Amino acid sequence: MTLEGSGAAAIGSRATGADGSGAPRLVREPAKVRPAARALRREHGTLALVPTMGFLHEGHLRLVDRARELCGAVALSIFVNPTQFGPDEDFETYPRNLDRDLDLAAARGVDLVFAPSPEAMYPLPPTITVDAGPLADRLCGRSRPGHFGGVLTVVLKLLHLLQPDVGVFGRKDFQQLVLVRRMVRELDLDVHIEGAPIVRESGGLAMSSRNGYLSDAEREVARSLSVSLRRVRERFAAGERRADELEELARRTMEAAGAEVEYVRVVDPESLDRVGEAEADAVCAVAARVGTTRLIDNAALGGPSSLDQAAAPR
Ligand code: AMP
Repeated sequence: MTLEGSGAAAIGSRATGADGSGAPRLVREPAKVRPAARALRREHGTLALVPTMGFLHEGHLRLVDRARELCGAVALSIFVNPTQFGPDEDFETYPRNLDRDLDLAAARGVDLVFAPSPEAMYPLPPTITVDAGPLADRLCGRSRPGHFGGVLTVVLKLLHLLQPDVGVFGRKDFQQLVLVRRMVRELDLDVHIEGAPIVRESGGLAMSSRNGYLSDAEREVARSLSVSLRRVRERFAAGERRADELEELARRTMEAAGAEVEYVRVVDPESLDRVGEAEADAVCAVAARVGTTRLIDNAALGGPSSLDQAAAPR
C-alpha cells in the first residue's frame, strides 16, 4: 500500500497492472482527494467510485470489478460514517481493518482509496444534511430513523469530492440504492448510478461485513433469509401473485429457523410501495435479527437472481 504523499504510486501513472498487482494511492484528506480524483479522470478518461464502509469482502470487490468494466479508473472509499448509525447501533464496534482492505483493493486494481477520518469528513457539526424524504421511512427506515439521511448526506459529499462518472452500489442494500438513484434524479447530480448483483456465500447467505458477528449456529439461522427468498421466487414461478401470501411464506420460513423477523415486504422496485398483486419486477425485501445481529436481504420475484446459484439447503 502507498501512503499519501509517499509518491510510490503517483496519480496519473497507473500503478495497478491488468493482473491487479500494484498499490492504490491512499488519500485520507478530503482536500487532497478532489485533485487526486480529477487527475485520475484526466489520465484515464472516466472515473468510477465504489463507496464502502470497509472490512472488504467479495461483495465489495465485485463492485470494484464492475467499476473497472465501466470506467478507466476506479476509486474506492472506506468510511464508517457515524451519521448513519443510531445511538444504539454498532458504530464503535463495526469491524475495521484498513491494511487488509488496502491489500484486497490492490489485488483488484483499485487506483485510489479514500479513507478519511470522521473529523476530516465532518469538520463542522453537520447541521445541513440531505432529507431522504418519505421513502426513507419505509422498510429499514422504520427501525433506523435518520439512517438514510446520514447515508445520502455522506454519498452526496463523496460524489462532490471525487466527481465520478459512475457510482457503483450493491443491490444488497436495495433501499439505499433506490434512494441514491432518487437523490441523483431529484438533485440533478451528474453521475450514473450502477446497481450490482448481490454476492452470496455458497450456502446463500448474502455477504456482509456484519456476518463476522455470527456464531456458527447463528450462520445456519441467517441462511433462512436467502432460503425464504428462494421459496418466494419458486412460489411466484409456480403462479402465486398475492403479495401477502408470498410475504407470509417468507416470514414463516425465517421464523421456523429461529430468526426474529423485522419486516417482509413485497414492494415496487422504484416507489417502494407495497404491492397487492406481484409482478416479476417486484422485490421481496426482508430484515431479521439473528441473535443481536441485524441482517437484510432481497430478491426480485422473477428474472435471474444470484439466489439461483446458491446451493441453499431446504
Ligand atoms: P457497506 O460497506 O456494507 O456499506 O457496503 C458498501 C457497498 O457494497 C454498498 O453499495 C453495498 O450494497 C455493497 N455490498 C455489500 N455487501 C454486498 C453483497 N453481498 N453483494 C453486493 N453488494 C454488496
